[in-house]
Amino acid sequence: MTFGIDDLPVRDELRGKSPYGAPQLDVPVRLNTNENPYPLPEALVERITERVREAARDLNRYPDRDAVELRTRLAEYLTETSGYAVDEHNVWAANGSNEVIQQLLQAFGGPGRTAIGFEPSYSMHGLIARGTGTGWISGPRHDDFTIDVPAAERAVAEHRPDVVFITTPNNPTGNAVPAETVLALYEAAQAAKPSMVVVDEAYIEFSHGASLLSLLEGRPYLVVSRTMSKAFGAAGLRLGYLAAHPAVVDAVQLVRLPYHLSAVTQATALAALEHTGTLLKYVEQLKTERDRLVAELRAIGYEVTESDANFVQFGRFEDSHEVWRKILDRGVLVRDNGVPGWLRVTAGTPEENDAFLDAVRELKKEQE
Ligand code: PMP
Repeated sequence: MTFGIDDLPVRDELRGKSPYGAPQLDVPVRLNTNENPYPLPEALVERITERVREAARDLNRYPDRDAVELRTRLAEYLTETSGYAVDEHNVWAANGSNEVIQQLLQAFGGPGRTAIGFEPSYSMHGLIARGTGTGWISGPRHDDFTIDVPAAERAVAEHRPDVVFITTPNNPTGNAVPAETVLALYEAAQAAKPSMVVVDEAYIEFSHGASLLSLLEGRPYLVVSRTMSKAFGAAGLRLGYLAAHPAVVDAVQLVRLPYHLSAVTQATALAALEHTGTLLKYVEQLKTERDRLVAELRAIGYEVTESDANFVQFGRFEDSHEVWRKILDRGVLVRDNGVPGWLRVTAGTPEENDAFLDAVRELKKEQE
């Protein structure tokens, strides 16, 4: 018998669990992880090279621990795009919004505390809760995947969670959450006890509606988290950030590792933020492609959940995993998130989307 993980004294709650991760398969069309299909423009690649070369000369030193220049530029981006003014004291950055979420749970969750999410939603919220010793509560949704507000309010009142997660647009379902829902849950959370409400806006740039950033006004327990992985097309950079009351930024600094954002990451992100115009230029095209996927999938005869993101949830299938495999057999990788009866496809380039649509059209014909 070989020595394995079960022979190690790992924490009980980790026993028998698998690491998170979508399959990284080498197939012609990969539409499974909500990445932006377009590589960075050449001018930006040049600028990153310049900035990183400069940073390399100082790599004998630790980076700016508080990433002040980067937080200032991120605050400017948020202010310009949302019309709601924030500055560097409101903004915190980390290695992907996953790390932002982890730091929030380290600061506000932890042993003896709980967090709630309304599922199906981004599964890492629950997994990071587990990793930080925070109890996880699965809150309700309607059959159409919108949040069941009265039931959600009751769940918050009953469990009195320390952290409430609201993902808008939601992953994997794609639908946006109205501001009124966030406000109702914020009120419910504060009535139960002061608890943090984290609005995960990873896909907000693709939404038909606006960011909920302005809800931060007068709401010190609200946090909006963002990422450069999706609309910015920089998933490989690993840069996520949050906007909140400055006290929240003080709190996450208690748990962040010193120098968590490398000088190379900061230099790359700063270069990217000089080019937001070019970076975001594909967002409109991806929104058009997303809307085309919704329309064509419906025309083929599938059910589709309304999408404000760069992906579309479609169904319904008796055996979604079997359908996932058949689409893969046709060279297209989509995502089986474990939502019974549904699959998720990321909007790719027009050619990739055509390949996907051809594959599912063929499947539908086979079934008839
Ligand atoms: N939030 C949501 C809703 C996501 O879907 C993702 C990525 N799949 C993330 C956060 C994390 O993204 P990243 O760590 O790349 O910023």
